[in-house]
Amino acid sequence: MAKLILIAIAVWLIITLLRRYRRHLDDTPQSRSPMGESMVQCAHCGLHLPESDSICAAQQYFCCQDHADAHHAQHSR
Ligand SMILES: [Zn+2]
Repeated sequence: MAKLILIAIAVWLIITLLRRYRRHLDDTPQSRSPMGESMVQCAHCGLHLPESDSICAAQQYFCCQDHADAHHAQHSR
């Protein structure tokens, strides 16, 4: 009878550990997208950068204000 209880405790322990391990895996940053943000490309120099760091002008993205201005200067000529 004592053996049965030991086996039951062992099985419960294994299940608990597996569940905890799986939850630990779910919590690791690798399972989530590290770049939650979408990347955009500078229309002037082609640099990739996060959308929040970019400058959006005339439905195009730029890495900095200089490139936005340069791009518009090129295209307004
Ligand atoms: Zn640029």
